[in-house]
Amino acid sequence: MSRYWSRFVHDLEPYVPGEQPKMARLVKLNTNENPFGPSPRALAAIEAANGDDLRLYPDPDASALKAAIGEYYGVPVDQVFVGNGSDEVLAHLFMGFFRQDKPILFPDITYSFYKVYCGLYGIEYQTQPLDDDFSIHLAAYPADNGGIIFPNPNAPTGRPLPLAEIEALLQRNTDSLVVVDEAYVDFGGESAIALVARYPNLLVTQTFSKSRSLAGLRIGFAVGQAPLIDGLERIKNSFNSYPLDRLAIAAGIAAMEDVAWFKQCVDAIVAERDALTAALTARGFEVLPSAANFVFARHAAHQGETLAAGLREQGVIVRHFKRPERIAAFLRITVGTPEQNRALLDALDTLL
Ligand code: PMP
Repeated sequence: MSRYWSRFVHDLEPYVPGEQPKMARLVKLNTNENPFGPSPRALAAIEAANGDDLRLYPDPDASALKAAIGEYYGVPVDQVFVGNGSDEVLAHLFMGFFRQDKPILFPDITYSFYKVYCGLYGIEYQTQPLDDDFSIHLAAYPADNGGIIFPNPNAPTGRPLPLAEIEALLQRNTDSLVVVDEAYVDFGGESAIALVARYPNLLVTQTFSKSRSLAGLRIGFAVGQAPLIDGLERIKNSFNSYPLDRLAIAAGIAAMEDVAWFKQCVDAIVAERDALTAALTARGFEVLPSAANFVFARHAAHQGETLAAGLREQGVIVRHFKRPERIAAFLRITVGTPEQNRALLDALDTLL
């Protein structure tokens, strides 16, 4: 605290990211990173870009990266926006599109950054309760709203929504923007990018941090019809001309093009997720059906907080949320390598 702070800074409630521990040799299953490395082609692209050209600013439009994303999804380049992680893309769209007269809507249990952006930009919101089985119930979202955002699959539950339910929402909700945050979609969800051509109020965000294993580089993007992308560009160009550096642009292109590496890593994670779900279930956990690279699980006889602390003592870190109350019993566990998942299960066996 400083007397030079404004009232505004004083009142902010910032997002608290998962811990990035300094100690080596922890089994780190707390922030949904990819346990497999980035594409070797992405690493080679960084090597190649790591030279004298770093004295020059990067392309402010990152057009070659947009082209690679457009190529992969079969969308024109003017339907692609890129930013410094999807968090930055989300921040821009909250600031630019969600400052409306009516409150925006999102699930009561979801990515906690949404509330933080509302606080930062003075946006009113109303949360919508998840169903008893922790799924998002779009049919109950009121028509009178200033915008709607939800992740698919949802975080931290991992539960996916069928594309048909998203399309039904788009058909009835035509007067406000609908944002689908697809940070985890590659691990088993159906992407709403397929609907972009038909719905001018749909914006889909994705990230290179999870399925493309580049959380450390910070690359995120949005796909939507050109007028929405133009709006995002106006905001970005009023904020930072160069959100993506030369290394990120080069590696992002290579990662997008290396489809074989991407598929191999995603398939391995999905297979591990299914094995981990079975192993946790056998140990008395209820595991929500996950289409993400993490599972959300609670034990009938042990508290989430106690389990997380006990795992930590054995060098395994997972994420536990004290709030809201309804999820306090759960652990969110990132799917790791077979060795990491084995270490988690061994540590659990000691605890249980
Ligand atoms: N959306 C969701 C649902 C997330 O869990 C995350 C990761 N914390 C993000 C967006 C942001 O990811 P990034 O900024 O790394 O692209």
